Amino acid sequence: MDVRNCKNCGRIFNFVGGMGICPICTKEVEDKFQDVKKYIRETPKASLTQISEDNEVSLSIIRKWIKEERLIFTADSLVGIECESCGTMIRTGKYCERCKQEIANTMGNAYQKPQVEPEKPVFKTSTENRMRFLDKDRINQRN
Ligand SMILES: [Zn+2]
Ligand SMILES: [Zn+2]
Repeated sequence: MDVRNCKNCGRIFNFVGGMGICPICTKEVEDKFQDVKKYIRETPKASLTQISEDNEVSLSIIRKWIKEERLIFTADSLVGIECESCGTMIRTGKYCERCKQEIANTMGNAYQKPQVEPEKPVFKTSTENRMRFLDKDRINQRN
């Protein structure tokens, strides 16, 4: 049994994975999440600071929800979070669409690399040329 102190309130609880906070705090955070979600829907022009203050939720938790794509801001919302790669304002997630695409391309290339084997054919060709040259030499000697 893995018993830990809750990171949030200090209560001892049975740790079963997750954020390291007790079931009571987990439920409180979930309740807050629902509040914030509702608040954003009703107040789309609220800033992150305003959301944090009005709902008594820390900015870091709000940012975490945005990065997890649980909180999604509407197109007319003034709120955003910076793309972790280029700093563009985005509505949800970690990266903007452009960076997401770039990351996907990079990963795609890295995955395809082992399939390209340029060394083997080059070696084979040079060996063949060499063989042909030797054969020709032998023929020449015979003549
Ligand atoms: Zn707790
Ligand atoms: Zn970006």
